[in-house]
Amino acid sequence: MATPVRMGADGRLIVGDEVIIPYIEGDGTGVDIWPAARTVFDAALAAHGRRVEWREVLAGEKAFRETGSWLPDETLSVFREYLVGIKGPLTTPVGGGIRSLNVALRQLLDLYVCLRPVRWFEGVPSPVRHPEWVDMVIFRENTEDVYAGLEVQAGSEEARALREFLAERFGWELGADAGIGIKPVSAHGSKRLIRAAIRYALDHHRRSVTLVHKGNIQKFTEGAFRAWGYELVREEFADVAVGWDDCGGDPGDKLLVKDAIADNAFQQVLTRPRDYDVIATTNLNGDYLSDALAAQVGGIGIAPGGNINYVTGHGIFEATHGTAPKYAGKDMVNPGSVILSGVLMFEYLGWNDVADAIVDALERTIAEGIVTYDFARLRDGATKVSTSEFGHAVAERI
Ligand code: NAD
Repeated sequence: MATPVRMGADGRLIVGDEVIIPYIEGDGTGVDIWPAARTVFDAALAAHGRRVEWREVLAGEKAFRETGSWLPDETLSVFREYLVGIKGPLTTPVGGGIRSLNVALRQLLDLYVCLRPVRWFEGVPSPVRHPEWVDMVIFRENTEDVYAGLEVQAGSEEARALREFLAERFGWELGADAGIGIKPVSAHGSKRLIRAAIRYALDHHRRSVTLVHKGNIQKFTEGAFRAWGYELVREEFADVAVGWDDCGGDPGDKLLVKDAIADNAFQQVLTRPRDYDVIATTNLNGDYLSDALAAQVGGIGIAPGGNINYVTGHGIFEATHGTAPKYAGKDMVNPGSVILSGVLMFEYLGWNDVADAIVDALERTIAEGIVTYDFARLRDGATKVSTSEFGHAVAERI
């Protein structure tokens, strides 16, 4: 009988061989990519003696049509209870009460890690000469920074009050026509993110963790993120990891934790990608960096993501692209992003055999030139297939 995933007292997930996983199909192209991805998942699960009872929950347009709410309470309570779920892209309601459904889900479940692995698959058209040198895993802080939503509009009463306070208390004179945003970066928020990145690097036998920050300019937020990272290494990981300054760049057989200023990191991921492995970074840097890196390997259409709270165990895995409304229902777009988000989810559950089987089958499908329109138009000799045909092609190779 299928059971929910639970968090054990030792901080590890308890996962049976048959589990219940809630899913949100997603708006727009969700109707195309979710069924294709599920075909792949079910084939890989069956091949490895496991089963998922997929339980649909509603969010976005489908939820609004059926319940009048963009994000029904029922959906949240199901994710709360079942811990691990997967979702397709959701429309951001324009002018609605909720700023973004994705942001709302992350905040309500305190999913503080945005996990974005970036690697190249043979046969995927890329704008760089050595896309195979890119094999990075980004841990983007997901709750703080300028995403905290602490902003006041230029000309508003709130902005005037804040300007007056800042002038009086700090002597900071801001223009009357300025909007003002607040950027919180805390020790707690930084350390829990960096802790997750270091643990991941250790578990996956990675070489290094790079803290990417803008600490030369923003000393007490970005700079503090860096300092807290090195402090954490000394406090909690001294037996297995070492900071650059404490080893002169030679970590011996320990994990190396180093740092890079964000603008330099953006150059180096292009010019020296092999110097980067696991990356831990603040929210805004991580937003830019994960899409830039995905583009570098040609993978915006196949870039996966996961939003995770490693303490409570909650994790929602998701396609990182949007709903691409002009392609919705046309059985055209690439389901790779949801498929690889499923891979991340199965790895998170500890089902590495299922995850590896899917990656292997996906690699072979793309390498054989069987691709959807987005890749087919950028390479020679490809066989262009539909979303559903691509799903079947991958499933047949498992
Ligand atoms: P989008 O990602 O939906 O589409 C941009 C372009 O990317 C498309 O025109 C298409 O060329 C390409 N693309 C997207 N998905 C693809 C796929 N699976 N295969 C091949 N090509 C693909 O971005 P947008 O047009 O800016 O946003 C549309 C809607 O999606 C908005 O409502 C936005 O708020 C929402 N959105 C949701 C998420 C999410 O749920 N995670 C993320 C981004 C945007």
